[in-house]
Amino acid sequence: MKVLVIGAGAIGACAALRLAEAGAQVTVMSRDEPLDTLSAHSFGWANAIDEKNSAYFELSIEALAAQERLAADVAGPRQWLFRQGNLHWGRDSASAAAQRAIADGYRELGYPVEELTPEEVIRDLEPGLALENVTGPVYFYPRDMHVLGDVLLPAVLDRARAAGADVRIGEQVESLDAVRADAVLCCAGRGNATLLPGLPLLPPGAPERLTRGLLVRTTPVSAPPNRIIHAPGLSIRPHTGNRLVLHCHDLDHTLTESSDVAALAEMALARLPEVLPGAADAEVEKAFVSVRPMPRDGMSIVGAVPGRNGVYVIATHSGLTLAPLLGEIAAREVLGDPHPLAEPFQLTRFA
Ligand SMILES: Cc1cc2nc3c(=O)[nH]c(=O)nc-3n(C[C@H](O)[C@H](O)[C@H](O)COP(=O)(O)OP(=O)(O)OC[C@H]3O[C@@H](n4cnc5c(N)ncnc54)[C@H](O)[C@@H]3O)c2cc1C
Repeated sequence: MKVLVIGAGAIGACAALRLAEAGAQVTVMSRDEPLDTLSAHSFGWANAIDEKNSAYFELSIEALAAQERLAADVAGPRQWLFRQGNLHWGRDSASAAAQRAIADGYRELGYPVEELTPEEVIRDLEPGLALENVTGPVYFYPRDMHVLGDVLLPAVLDRARAAGADVRIGEQVESLDAVRADAVLCCAGRGNATLLPGLPLLPPGAPERLTRGLLVRTTPVSAPPNRIIHAPGLSIRPHTGNRLVLHCHDLDHTLTESSDVAALAEMALARLPEVLPGAADAEVEKAFVSVRPMPRDGMSIVGAVPGRNGVYVIATHSGLTLAPLLGEIAAREVLGDPHPLAEPFQLTRFA
């Protein structure tokens, strides 16, 4: 069976690998270099997702298991999956109460959350953090992971090539009408909205959910943290070569097409010394702005496109968390074997 996979971000790469392994004759066409995609710059927190939807929670739990399967199958020279957990805390009574509510929600779902004192965090986990202004406990989510998209992508694409996939970078698909294949799998991120007009993705700046996002990569620091840190106002992820990736939700809310991205990146960086004093000399190495491929209801779109024979689409936020699993699911479904976890995420739910 000839399958065209459109896109070589995390979703397309993982799907291409699993399809090629399953015996499909796979061609991947990608407009951008893999290292220029959103996936390569993403914050890369891989976690259970509590959107108060049990099917989505189950999908994300299985996705964490799929991360392990992928890491075992594609053990490259550089590690991309880190099983260090994630820390969250509040700075005042309101943010502490919000963190407690989130932690309680996860506990109700049976997902482990530990409560630590600042002293315990500094002694056992992150000696470089400044935790004088913490209100309430520090919440530690030990099963959360982080994924380095820019390490994962080349490794998974190389393995897909070795399994027989023809990966063509720099080739944009203008229209699905011209495609000659038995099946087409659209994994084009935001580009899916152009390939499939009417796909229910939120437009940039939509008020319902955060779409635009800024990710800031720093120069190397002397003592990076070991894990993802969600401090109030600043999220930090360790990156390759002792660099950090920074993300600020509140700054994302201010982003428009005409934002001064360099100034916003400096604002994110200015928050760093308060959380990680040892990183005070870090500089901005790269600021990357993107629009999340955010389905209208916030949950993944996975499945056949109604009325388009042989066309299948995956469009999702949390794509670094979900890619290894969605790749497995897509390979099964495109080859004609429905996957039970994907059933609630079909496009027909928007009809
Ligand atoms: C600020 C921010 C923080 C985030 N944090 C997290 C997080 O912590 N954890 C998490 O799991 N997710 C996170 N995400 C979401 C995650 O990054 C995305 O869900 C994921 O990267 C989407 O992967 P993708 O493969 O679908 O798309 P992309 O990585 O965008 O790749 C799309 C591919 O399609 C190609 N393409 C597009 N159009 C065409 C065309 N017409 N023809 C050929 N090729 C085409 C592109 O060249 C590219 O190769 C975050 C996103 C943002 C913006």
